[in-house]
Amino acid sequence: MHPRRSVLHIALALSALAALTGCTSSAAVAPPVTGSAQLTDDDGYIPEGSSLTLDSDLPAVRRLDPALLDALRSAASAASDRGTAITIVDGWRSERYQEYLFAQAVRTYGSEQEASRWVKRGADSAHVSGKAVDIQTADAMDFLSRFGSEWGLCQTYANERWHFELLTGPGGDCPAPLADGRG
Ligand SMILES: [Zn+2]
Repeated sequence: MHPRRSVLHIALALSALAALTGCTSSAAVAPPVTGSAQLTDDDGYIPEGSSLTLDSDLPAVRRLDPALLDALRSAASAASDRGTAITIVDGWRSERYQEYLFAQAVRTYGSEQEASRWVKRGADSAHVSGKAVDIQTADAMDFLSRFGSEWGLCQTYANERWHFELLTGPGGDCPAPLADGRG
């Protein structure tokens, strides 16, 4: 394969993956522009390569559902005792930000109907209602998938190891992860 074509194919595969999960940011260096303005902290936008601790004052953390944030902080404290840091790469998102992700998926899949199989629209996303986080590091994902239910935290989708929501009470049983990730 021609080298430039293989680069294109990799880029297409990555954008398809990002749209598929609806959770990963694009690899752009500058914040993406949607409508007339760039996405900012106020949209819950977290630049690629950065993450936030759960005591951050930024809207991505501050606008999370208080019960979810309390559970995450307790879990992070327990994880920290074991040498594992839990930080988030996506938390609360504005509807505008979610619509941007949806528009990306429309470009990838060619139609709104097809895109809606993979990415939720605006207010339908648990991120927009502040009820979901995407965490980083494999260690943190391992920790929460094993022990998260102690605080009611559950992995929602089988194919999104990083996406957690408050789906049970403390010490409860998490529902089986859903097959389709559309976080
Ligand atoms: Zn997510």
